Amino acid sequence: QQLIEALNNEIERLHLSNEVKVVQTGCLGLCERGPNVVIYPEGAYYCHVKPEDARDIAEEHLLKGRIVQRLLYRDIAEEHLPLSLNEIDFYNRQRRIVLKNCGVIDPENIEEYIGADGYQALAKVLTGMTQQEVIDTIKKSGLRGRGGAGFPTGLKWQFTHDAIGDKKYVLCNADEGDPGAFMDRSVLEGDPHALLEAMTIAGYAVGADQGYIYVRAEYPLAVKRLNIAINQAREYGLLGSNIFGTGFKFDIDLRLGAGAFVCGEETALMTSIEGKRGEPRPRPPFPANKGVFGKPTLLNNVETYANVPQIILNGPEWFASIGTDKSKGTKVFALGGKINNTGLVEIPMGTTLREVIYDIGGGIPQGKAFKAAQTGGPSGGCIPAQFLDMPIEYDSLIQIGSMMGSGGMIVMDEDNCMVDIARFFLQFTVDESCGKCPPCRIGTKRMLEILDRIVEGKGKEGDIELLETLAKNIKASALCGLGQTAPNPVLSTLKYFRDEYEAHIRDKK
Ligand code: SF4
Repeated sequence: QQLIEALNNEIERLHLSNEVKVVQTGCLGLCERGPNVVIYPEGAYYCHVKPEDARDIAEEHLLKGRIVQRLLYRDIAEEHLPLSLNEIDFYNRQRRIVLKNCGVIDPENIEEYIGADGYQALAKVLTGMTQQEVIDTIKKSGLRGRGGAGFPTGLKWQFTHDAIGDKKYVLCNADEGDPGAFMDRSVLEGDPHALLEAMTIAGYAVGADQGYIYVRAEYPLAVKRLNIAINQAREYGLLGSNIFGTGFKFDIDLRLGAGAFVCGEETALMTSIEGKRGEPRPRPPFPANKGVFGKPTLLNNVETYANVPQIILNGPEWFASIGTDKSKGTKVFALGGKINNTGLVEIPMGTTLREVIYDIGGGIPQGKAFKAAQTGGPSGGCIPAQFLDMPIEYDSLIQIGSMMGSGGMIVMDEDNCMVDIARFFLQFTVDESCGKCPPCRIGTKRMLEILDRIVEGKGKEGDIELLETLAKNIKASALCGLGQTAPNPVLSTLKYFRDEYEAHIRDKK
């Protein structure tokens, strides 16, 4: 805010207000180098900009057209001085479909979204496609749910379309809760209209007239921008009773989550929208048949929806040509932990972990060795160094005991204790367990006690076997996904770093 204010003051002082405008966008992705300023038309990319740099930017660049060299991006080795984003490895190795408008347009101005082909996919759907044609397009694209499980999106849409009901709902899960994850937040803050457009398309396809975005209250900027976007879309006739004059009726409202991780689980989310305590319930019935308020319901997450307008506009074949055989398109990851370029990246499916860590992420700080990356947050597992060259896609990650998850990627270096990492994630699920079913409520606590004593050097013989037995039983008997996947971080670290558990027990430290 101070930087924006300083830039505006300088622009006014130099009487440039008619020629230059400061636009606040969403996240550009390279959080490590923020605050970022990009000056157009050159696309000059300045990083770590402070309010006191505003004078130089205005007097040198804006007034005299001279690049302020000292603010340009420098790579880790400080060898290159690239001018624009496209010349930087962090960006030019990415493929931005979901994040296409993030950091580019003003998310509070619907005209900018429209100027970037916004709402054209909705127009195409409403004026020339049947419901089944829309669903077939999504099916053909191969899009799978980006919330973690990877269920085919088109099939989900088909189930909700085929379900019988006098009223149907379209929901968006924007209750991003994994530690270290901020993918959905960036889309909500940087391109909220893309979500509204996609949900309206989904509403048409499945026959719903009401949508709800369940967004966490801890994302105040996302909530603010969603509210602005919804009001603008209503004003422009893009939400409401007669969209594009076609007679199609669809509206969207927000529901704010109060911070319970379990409310990201689909049945708990729907219960929370109904105004009740957010607790999971057994499935079946599945949401497609009996979802929120007992009606057929379609539920996807933010990133899944954000792909939809692009698929409609560019065609399913275009989308299916990106990625691998069974994992199409791109995936957004929030890179964090022991990595030089912490930030938000979007890569084609099939990119190797090595490319993400070293080419895009700039490697490990202080030249330390990469040890593992945790994907899938508290439900996922670690990917050790031996799989650095494995392509990142849904099935390969499951095969090695991890999962795609929603996109959090936390990097560990040689100094990290993997037992401690497993303990961190288990502590998280113990804190967030809703307490409804004993395997999760009691079982994960017992596992945590064992991990505590192992880390404190008080581990006993048989502790590892006990952990494995508990993990197996919890996975088989917990009611919802939170409990069923809670043991995963322990199981995957045991699989690849068992020697660290054994060393703690043996050496008593
Ligand atoms: Fe609640 Fe855990 Fe049971 Fe899910 S598995 S219902 S979070 S106690």
